[in-house]
Amino acid sequence: MKFCLDTLKTECLPPRVPCREANCTNPAIWDTGLCWQHYSHPEELRQRIVAAATSKSGLLGVCLVGVDLAGADLAGAQLSYSDLSHACLQRANLRGAHLDHLMAEGADLSDADLSDASLLFACLGLARCGKTRFTNAKAENVNFVGASLVGADFSNAKLFYSRFAGADCSGACFRGADLERAIFRATRLRDADMSAYQGRPIMDRVIW
Ligand SMILES: [Zn+2]
Repeated sequence: MKFCLDTLKTECLPPRVPCREANCTNPAIWDTGLCWQHYSHPEELRQRIVAAATSKSGLLGVCLVGVDLAGADLAGAQLSYSDLSHACLQRANLRGAHLDHLMAEGADLSDADLSDASLLFACLGLARCGKTRFTNAKAENVNFVGASLVGADFSNAKLFYSRFAGADCSGACFRGADLERAIFRATRLRDADMSAYQGRPIMDRVIW
């Protein structure tokens, strides 16, 4: 599904090189020449990705489409400008991670911890973020369009101009969050905690 502006992809993201396996149209992961499905040692690659992302230089602007990093310890990792679309990051520890301009369209971040992470201009459109923790995160200008954010925790997060159109934020917590110019359009906010937020969000056809 096309969800983001193509201009965003061409300006910010690494070019997607196709997997070298015959007739495979999936993008190749990082420097392997193969997609996640065709790479024969996924555990070894997973460890290499985690080591590089948490190293001093980080893993900037790399294609990691569809990788399985479930439960990985990526605290403080540097993954800005990388493409984690459709990746599995369930229960991953991304506390304090650098995720600016990250592409994570359709990624699974269920129960992951992104507390204190930086997510400026990231795209989490259609991402699955059930019970994901964004506490104190710097998540300004983020695209959460169509994302599932049921029970997500945005306590004290900075959400200036982030877009939640069509997202399901049922039971999510926005306590103390900065919602200046955040856009909630046809967003589900049933049982969401909107107490004591700051700023003036745009509320349009919200579903309570
Ligand atoms: Zn392939």
